[in-house]
Amino acid sequence: MNGHRMVCRLKLHEGAIVAAFSLLYLCCIAAPTSFGDDAEAARIRARVKAVPMNEKVKLTNDQWRRILTPAQFFVMREAGTEPPFKNEYWNNHEKGIYLCAACGNELFSSNTKFESGTGWPSFYQPLAKDKIVILADNTGGMKRQEVRCARCGSHLGHVFNDGPPPTHLRYCLNSVSLKLKATKGSVGVVDSEGIQPGLWRCQRAHRPILKIITV
Ligand code: FE
Repeated sequence: MNGHRMVCRLKLHEGAIVAAFSLLYLCCIAAPTSFGDDAEAARIRARVKAVPMNEKVKLTNDQWRRILTPAQFFVMREAGTEPPFKNEYWNNHEKGIYLCAACGNELFSSNTKFESGTGWPSFYQPLAKDKIVILADNTGGMKRQEVRCARCGSHLGHVFNDGPPPTHLRYCLNSVSLKLKATKGSVGVVDSEGIQPGLWRCQRAHRPILKIITV
């Protein structure tokens, strides 16, 4: 019974954290910012575009704020979290490559995307080990591993050790941190019930990972 109560408390705790993040997300994206498609923003975007893909992108927070949407800035530069099930890619089955929404770095392939049941786009491995960096994240009373773009340092999400084979990892990402470069003509592959082949559901959602990830 005590174990059951403990599990319930943990689930309530996780639910409260997700609700708090969602509320914070709504407040932040509703707040007025300097975001706008002005000449300065165009100049900064051109500067980012001119950086070779094998080099780092370094901008100030003010510069990022000018070229990202409020939601992107909150998630990518302030490590926020978008609401589950109310984001662009959680249920997207198009084929293609997912880029970093801030710098265009190629991060994940749709071939490694799977149905986690969490409401966020989930992948079992990045395109290459050096595409991302993993950092310890002890915020919110949880021990997690944060995933960032290796090129521009933008926050993408977190990685957990409850994913499907072959890696058994679950890269749980925010849609606003990603931009899908879809394969031409791709409309996604679903069966007659609208379920992606190879459906895999997370059995231990939000279980914190206990060690630094290597892929
Ligand atoms: Fe990036």
